[in-house]
Amino acid sequence: MPQQACIFCERAKPLVTITKEHLFSRWVDRILTPELLGPDRSFERTTAGPDGLAMSKTWPTEVIAAIEATVVCGSSADGCNGGWMGDLDGQVRHLIEPMMLGKPRTLSPEEQVTIATWAVMKSMVLEFVWGTEQAIVFPQEARMFVYRQQRPPANMQIRIAAVESHGRPALIFRRVYRLRPQAPASKTLPGLASCSTFVLGCLVVQVYGTPSIPSAAPATPHRPSYFVIYPSTGSAISWPPPEALDDAGLDRFAHPLQPVTGD
Ligand SMILES: [Zn+2]
Repeated sequence: MPQQACIFCERAKPLVTITKEHLFSRWVDRILTPELLGPDRSFERTTAGPDGLAMSKTWPTEVIAAIEATVVCGSSADGCNGGWMGDLDGQVRHLIEPMMLGKPRTLSPEEQVTIATWAVMKSMVLEFVWGTEQAIVFPQEARMFVYRQQRPPANMQIRIAAVESHGRPALIFRRVYRLRPQAPASKTLPGLASCSTFVLGCLVVQVYGTPSIPSAAPATPHRPSYFVIYPSTGSAISWPPPEALDDAGLDRFAHPLQPVTGD
């Protein structure tokens, strides 16, 4: 079933054209080149639905920029794709390009929010990329919030880490958790949580969120292996964090509720 309305602004056909959003823009491929990464580089995705069953698929990374979903409006300047989403992508490219290549970088609080907003936008597109059997955790009002406010809803936690990987320069993890709500749930999708983790070269960006949209949430502290960039602590950070993840650490990082779910 093709998307009839934009997943962010809800404008629909025939007023707007629904266009393809590339999960990662072509500039990602231009930074993480075969010459840089070697011939056997691969791209890997791991998805796990509410049943907890995880599936992984690996293929050559030359198709990284080919992952796309026809879900957002307009390539013209007033459309989402050619407007705010393109602007955000351009700002983030400038910020994360050196980090993808492993170069240290200081990020101001405003820059942290820019990266966090981009990551949330991408994690919302990701929910639509791999077919209708994927659970859509974030409600329309959360996507509308990102479109209108140009920042993530307060309950989303966005973290950045650094990885020293052996042969896995590009990964996407998407995990959907079924939580047991402590109070009777009033939302349409109670008890689900989503954790999306993107690895682009040395940079790891993670979005964890639930369907609810509270007005505020407390900032949580940094850990040795990651920084919390949203909700913002209000201070500049110097990436990378003190401890880089290795491949096993990355797998644990991408599955934060594993100590609870036990799989
Ligand atoms: Zn739109």
